[in-house]
Order: sequence, then C-alpha cells, then structure tokens
Amino acid sequence: MTDNDYKKATENLKKAVPLMMKNHVPVTPANYALWYTYVDKAIPNLNIEMDSAIEKYGICPPATGQDLYTNYIASRTEADSQELKASLELLLAETGSSMDDTLKGTSKFSKVINKSFSNLKRANDDGMTIEDIMEVVQELLSESKEIQNSTKFLSNYLQDASGEINRLKGKLSELQKDVLFDGLSGLYNRRAFDDDLFTLCHAQQTLCLILLDIDHFKGFNDEYGHLFGDTVIQQVAKRLKAASKEGISAYRFGGEEFALIIPNKPLSVAKQFAETVRKLIENISIKDKKTGNQIRNITASFGVAELEGSDSAEDIINRADSLMYEAKEAGRNRVFPE
Ligand code: GH3
Ligand code: MG
Ligand code: MG
Repeated sequence: MTDNDYKKATENLKKAVPLMMKNHVPVTPANYALWYTYVDKAIPNLNIEMDSAIEKYGICPPATGQDLYTNYIASRTEADSQELKASLELLLAETGSSMDDTLKGTSKFSKVINKSFSNLKRANDDGMTIEDIMEVVQELLSESKEIQNSTKFLSNYLQDASGEINRLKGKLSELQKDVLFDGLSGLYNRRAFDDDLFTLCHAQQTLCLILLDIDHFKGFNDEYGHLFGDTVIQQVAKRLKAASKEGISAYRFGGEEFALIIPNKPLSVAKQFAETVRKLIENISIKDKKTGNQIRNITASFGVAELEGSDSAEDIINRADSLMYEAKEAGRNRVFPE
C-alpha cells in the first residue's frame, strides 16, 4: 500500500463510520465496504441509488443497503474491489508495521496470536464487525509492547490473517444473500422485513404497511398439491415485485402472507396501491397441467396501516393484521380500511 492509498483509506474510514452511525447501520465488513465505496464516490450509480433511498426514507434501510452491497460491491471484479480490501486490510497492515520494531518471539506472544486467530475464526459463526477486527488488532498491539519477537514470524501471521479475513468476507456476502431473500418467492424475507420495519419505525419515517394474505390458499394445496401451492405463491410474488416501484419494498411475511412497505405516502395512496395489487392478483391465470383447466381465481385480502407517532413495528403490524382479518371476514378479495 502506498502512502497515498493509506491516506485515502484513512480519510474514507473517518467519513464512512459517522455516516453509518447516522443511518443506524451496524459496522459489519459488508456494510463498511458499502459505505466506504459511497463516501469514496467510486461508483456513481451506487451513490445515485443510495441518495434516492435516503431521500425517500430519511435513512438507508438495511435491506436496501444489503441489496446495494450485493449488486455493486459483492459482484465487483477482483481488480475493482482491490481498494476495498486494502482498506479492510489497512488495520492489519498498520499493526504489522507498528510491531516491526518492537517484537521478538516468546511463547506468550504465540499465545496472543493464537487467541487472536481464534477470535478471527469466530466470523465463521456470527460475522465479524470492523470493531471486532479492531479489537483483535488492538489486543495484539497492546500485548506486543511487552513482548519481543521476530518480525518475520509476525508478518507471516498477519498475512495469513488478512487472507483469512478476505475469505470470510466473501463467505459473508454469499451468506447475506440467503439471509436477506426468500428462496421460494425471491422476495425479501421475513428477517429483512423485521430489520427494515424496525429501523424505519425507529427513525420515525412516514410510511404505510400493507399486509396481504392469499384467500383460501389451503384449498390450492389440497386440490392440486403442495407444489402447485408453491407456484401460486411465486405468481403472487411476481406481481408484488413488478408493482413495487418508487421505493416500495415487497417481502414474504410468512407462508402465503406478504408485506409491502410504502415510504413517504399517506394512507390514501397506500390503499390505492393495495387496490392495484389486489386487481393484479385477481387477474393471475394459471392452468392445471394435468387437465388443462383454468384454476379458480386467485385472490388476496389486504390490511393497510399508516405509521403513527409512537408506533413500534409491532403496533403497525398488529393494526394492518387486524384490518386484513376484517377484510377476510367481510368476504375476502378486498382492501381494508375501505
Ligand atoms: P384464508 O382465506 O382464511 O387465508 O384461508 P387459507 O386457506 O389461505 O389460510 P390457512 O391459514 O388455513 O392456510 C394457509 C396454508 O398455507 C396452510 C399451509 O399449509 C400453507 N402453506 C404455508 N406455507 C406454504 C408454502 O410455502 N407452500 C405451500 N404450498 N403451502 C404453504
Ligand atoms: Mg395466512
Ligand atoms: Mg390465506
């Protein structure tokens, strides 16, 4: 790393971390990579999308952040991501050079190194934050003051460590894809929903929540089999995804239930949007493969709620859920409140 790279990485680090705090973003390597790239302005489209999310929601919602990470950072070529890696490795490289002069081999130092390594390996289980890495590095630094060791021994270890971090980083970004999306529907999953809604409610953003549940869904399973039921879920998900524009996010809430988060719009607009989606679902046409017969109409019932002053995520979910059940009781295939 040249002096200039080092300076740039440090400057970006100083800008990225406070921004992440402001946006309620946990300092994980993936998030750090994303926000580092944002402050670095290295990918203009990333900044445009991030700015537009911030403009809509007031902050960058976690699922959007992870989506941006997957699209722009994780998929970048090796050469492009070199600088990011350099930044993450900065912490380790820094340690290496500060220890160069001070260390000589003792068994105590080996112990510290081994402990640091087992700390790094923790990332396999629960993901390692930049802070964790810093802690490990700092521990190495403070211990090293009392210990004498050969430089070579140390730098070999550190080189292995940065390789290990990179390997784990790759693994993490793969895992994050699974963590964020639902396998069957391709929509954001329940976890992403909980994360997004919690963060947005906490930041007291204007938003509406739509919950919808497919009507008499069990009947599809019973009449045509579970796999057909899966197809119905996929077809509904496809409509939700297609309809989700202007910052609207679609999630699989569970089973045959879905959620839509509508940022920055009043209840009346969200209700209209729900009505549009209701019609899209009503118009889905699937044929029974065996008989070639048209399957009965697919419909869903909707509950729409607006975030109120002191609402928790649970409050707004409960309101949308009760309204959805009222829509069921009133005859299904409708949006409540009317
Ligand atoms: P309602 O109109 O009151 O919502 O009736 P319903 O039949 O849709 O509701 P109910 O809760 O009785 O049935 C939902 C069924 O959805 C039960 C469960 O077996 C099925 N289910 C949940 N997840 C999946 C899935 O991933 N695939 C399939 N095929 N079925 C699922
Ligand atoms: Mg249900
Ligand atoms: Mg149902």
